Amino acid sequence: MHADADLTRRRFLLASAAVALAACADQLDPSPRPSGSASAGTAVPESADAPARPSADATASPLPADTPTPAASPRATAAPAAAPVRRLYRDGALADGRSERLRVGVSVYVVDGVIEWIRPSDDEGGRGSRRGLEVIDASGATIVPGMVDAHSHVTMPGGAHWIDRGLDAPSQMAAVAEANGRLLTSAGVRWARDVGAPRGEDREDGRTRALSLGIRDRWRASGSRAYPHIRAAGTWLTRANSLPDGLAVEVRDADALVAAAERQLDEGADLVKLYLDGPDPRTAPWSAAEVRRVVRAVHGRGARVTAHAGRLAGARVGVAGGIDALEHGFELDRDVAAEMARRGTVLVSTLAVFRSWLTFGRTTNQAQFRGNGASGIRERLETAEASVGLAARAGVPIAAGTDFGGGSLRANQLAWEVESLVAAGLEPFEALAAATWRGGELLGEADAGVIREGGPADFFLVHGDPLSDPRALWRMWRVDWAG
Ligand SMILES: [Zn+2]
Repeated sequence: MHADADLTRRRFLLASAAVALAACADQLDPSPRPSGSASAGTAVPESADAPARPSADATASPLPADTPTPAASPRATAAPAAAPVRRLYRDGALADGRSERLRVGVSVYVVDGVIEWIRPSDDEGGRGSRRGLEVIDASGATIVPGMVDAHSHVTMPGGAHWIDRGLDAPSQMAAVAEANGRLLTSAGVRWARDVGAPRGEDREDGRTRALSLGIRDRWRASGSRAYPHIRAAGTWLTRANSLPDGLAVEVRDADALVAAAERQLDEGADLVKLYLDGPDPRTAPWSAAEVRRVVRAVHGRGARVTAHAGRLAGARVGVAGGIDALEHGFELDRDVAAEMARRGTVLVSTLAVFRSWLTFGRTTNQAQFRGNGASGIRERLETAEASVGLAARAGVPIAAGTDFGGGSLRANQLAWEVESLVAAGLEPFEALAAATWRGGELLGEADAGVIREGGPADFFLVHGDPLSDPRALWRMWRVDWAG
């Protein structure tokens, strides 16, 4: 079961840490644009067509003359000085992760960042003035909801030294977060759920707390759609000696664990993250009853609890203790999967972490990724894929994460996890659901990962059909919200 038995204990700890953990930032890393996301050679999706500046009469002539006026839309009451930016995406395909059927011949009309309507391209309705309307020929492209990276670490960069980067200076982490924000947007990721950041002093707001929280606050306050929406746990809460020094908030007993969880919320965390791989990964660091105490306290504050569990022992106590989501779940058995399904516990998958490590066998000199190390990684991947498959068949809701930063992936590589879920046995539409609306449900955000009339125009366009080939998600063309 423990495929990495040949790793040294130190390496084992590092490997476990990777997975929920943190590592921050290689500030010198120029973060080359989606070299990953650009496996198809495309660069960033930003559109070439700048929003047309509508002429004065454009405001009075929405596209098709018979288009119902969007009474509820913010534009209806906007000051006349600011003409709305109107875009019509015409004749694209649509994949929303709700159905295994790709809709073709779809037009989407967007006004000031809100989806006015979604209609068949051959039945858009009457034709009004086109003046001021940007018509985008979306033919051959597929429209996909902005994705949700359900497991990320926005202050850290990933790479083969990901854990070391978790010990970098707060100023470096702030710079890395800025780069990550651009990478996320360029890859079609609209929301990122940050599940752990090192604690430190934020130079901007002067506060000492999880460094993700100041990033979240500033991106939100900026009002810029170029930044992803962030929901952030604070710092990992661990039993002492579970992670390398300096990364986590360490506690020694359950009273201290509850107090630490409440402190995270006091400091502004949206959710609480427990670390359930203990100093001995085969033994859970807390009992189910102890986990339940934390869950009750956090739920009492209106927040949710999630838990890292790479190993079965931690998964067992976490699920039995009532956590809302389980991160990684690389070792699940039928009993745990059945209990997760019964409780509605979400599994956040991060399978691509192992695939990333396997690439390091060729791209680095680090011994743990080569030879026997690589064999152990392959075995862990197989075990993890079997666990995800087990959960899916049991009816466990699955959301997709990269673990970028806390693991070795980069911020623009969520497509890799979608591919990995399909390899683990999910249907492509289920894998797309995991990267879109399932993540939105996990966040409790109705608009996250969703395309709907009246909702935000948070969608992007790719070439290919992600409902038959998840690699289509790498083939980025354009991100509407960044345009
Ligand atoms: Zn992580």
